Amino acid sequence: MRFDILTIFPEALSGFFSVGVLGQARAAGVIDIHLHNLRDFTDDPHRVVDDRPYGGGPGMVMKVEPFVRGIEAIKSGRITACFLHERCNISRPDPVQRWRTILLSAQGKLFTEDDAIRLGKYDGLILLCGRYEGVDERITEFVDEELSIGDYVLTGGELAAAVVVEATARTIPGVVGDFGSVESDSFYKKDRLGPPQYTRPPVFRGLAVPEVLMSGDHKKIEEFRARKAWEKTARNRPDLLGLDLDKENPDG
Ligand code: SAH
Repeated sequence: MRFDILTIFPEALSGFFSVGVLGQARAAGVIDIHLHNLRDFTDDPHRVVDDRPYGGGPGMVMKVEPFVRGIEAIKSGRITACFLHERCNISRPDPVQRWRTILLSAQGKLFTEDDAIRLGKYDGLILLCGRYEGVDERITEFVDEELSIGDYVLTGGELAAAVVVEATARTIPGVVGDFGSVESDSFYKKDRLGPPQYTRPPVFRGLAVPEVLMSGDHKKIEEFRARKAWEKTARNRPDLLGLDLDKENPDG
């Protein structure tokens, strides 16, 4: 699967995509990530990507044309290089058939693990990162969906795109070494958090690891983990269990 990100700050993401599970998955060829500088899709000498908002108001709005040109260039395989690759192998032997184009936006639908699983079934995702006051609304006619990573506002879509890429990539078999670990994680095909985990030392500052985890009794360990996962969900995310929708005082 491949991910193409359109951004005015490709350098902000290149390090992140080079380390850990994603870095290894790229090196192994399980996923491809291309970072495109949005300014490459402008047609003026100053490579302008923003302008003042119609109707007035503070700040600048990102223009729609560079994004649309970028989407079309990526889909047509015309791109020869990107921030991560001197030579972009974009017209691969298996041309991408099933694209999904996504605008990262605080006004989008909330991105969840179910979306990550759903998006992981496409051949390619094109992710558009806004900046400033956001993107000209007409962009919504050129994207398949608008996704938000949470009810807060960031200064740009780059971190949100990285969140979508990472969460989606993890659901693709071969990206995380042991897929069982993905399946047992929080949210994966369940409205439940994952179980708590422990490692050595057995006692740290008087805090002992629960004995059952060292018993070797797999049935008991499974029961313990299921119970603890439920308890933690009830404590931290009662909404997932439909238990208590009253918001507690976060400082309390
Ligand atoms: N004026 C907009 C906010 C713009 S923030 C509003 O009222 O909603 C600038 C850019 O940051 C957005 O275009 C988007 O790409 C990104 N962004 C900000 N918050 C985000 C969020 N919660 N999820 C995804 N992208 C977000």
